[in-house]
Amino acid sequence: SLTAGIVGLPNVGKSTLFNAITKSQVEAANYPFATIQPNVGVVEVPDSRVDRLVEIFHPKKTIYTTFEFTDIAGLVKGASQGEGLGNQFLSNIRLTDAICQVVRCFDDPNITHVENSIDPVRDIEIINLELTLADLQTVENRIAKVERKAKTTSDKEAKQEMELLKKLKPCLEEGKPARYLELDEEERFFLKTYNLLTAKPVIYVCNLDEEGVMDPSGCEYVQKVKELADRENAQVVCLCAKMEEELSGLEPDEKEIFLEELGLPSSGLDTLIQKAYSTLNLCTFLTAGEDECRAWTFKKGMKAPDCAGIIHTDFKKGFIRAEVYSFEDLDALGSEHAIKEAGKLRLEGKDYVVQDGDVMHFRFNV
Ligand code: GDP
Repeated sequence: SLTAGIVGLPNVGKSTLFNAITKSQVEAANYPFATIQPNVGVVEVPDSRVDRLVEIFHPKKTIYTTFEFTDIAGLVKGASQGEGLGNQFLSNIRLTDAICQVVRCFDDPNITHVENSIDPVRDIEIINLELTLADLQTVENRIAKVERKAKTTSDKEAKQEMELLKKLKPCLEEGKPARYLELDEEERFFLKTYNLLTAKPVIYVCNLDEEGVMDPSGCEYVQKVKELADRENAQVVCLCAKMEEELSGLEPDEKEIFLEELGLPSSGLDTLIQKAYSTLNLCTFLTAGEDECRAWTFKKGMKAPDCAGIIHTDFKKGFIRAEVYSFEDLDALGSEHAIKEAGKLRLEGKDYVVQDGDVMHFRFNV
């Protein structure tokens, strides 16, 4: 499964945020596949569609889909030069699919900052520089392999790849993440094979204090982070890690009351989970019945048999067809019976591209 790594300078609130994540961790009884390592937190993806299914079907069991975060502590200046445990951290980041970079956006004279002042944009640049330097090494190594081939042979692929490498090198040399580049499909194909750190999608997590989080757009630090994020195709989530840690210890209804009293629409961690999920092009299909209502994660573009295979390999092997209706129709009509009456139940074959929010029932041979 895909995972988002949590990175950031020391003392910005990473551990606090990761504590909030592990406290919200799913119960192994419902999710036995989630083998839990100490630096991994598996959380439910909040989904109001599942809640609505429960209202309609009154199932015995309800299961949300999950998302995984990995705590990657201790990235410091000089990591790409092997400072501290630099290389170890960089290879841990390489194993992730997206990066959540926590940046400190609160003043508190009692909590020291490694750079002695609060400046989230500088902090981001410190980390991005390390990642960029590591990528530059990767790109230079690749150039050393491909350049001669591209020059001396008629190898078309080598020439194409060289074009991409010639764009990447100056970009990284200027200290800019590979995300900055707008690339066509072929170029993106090569890029993927390098697994560059700065090509991974990024979410900047602005960690505010309890007051600041009431009005993040009023915070100058957040504004600056947003400007930077816009330039490099990254996303921003604002939260107060300390508050999230408190919230994660509460029961769902207590949590709702707490948020309501503060006038906040949702918890920042929930927003982070949802953004990390969609940033990775993950979508959800649903299965619904009196026994169980459940959300399942699939990658955008997947077809019906592959989605069936997510539930069980036998479903894919013996796939005949899928009965499908959309959550929106169910929500509006209120029951499966009404869906059928209204002719909103479709039969789809093996080429059907499953859509986010599809309610699926698979027919298969055993
Ligand atoms: P890490 O080194 O990045 O893991 O940072 P920690 O999570 O250990 O946090 C560093 C310090 O900042 C601790 O004293 C936290 O209590 C404090 N802190 C973390 N998040 C918040 C927050 O949202 N608001 C405030 N006021 N303090 C925070």
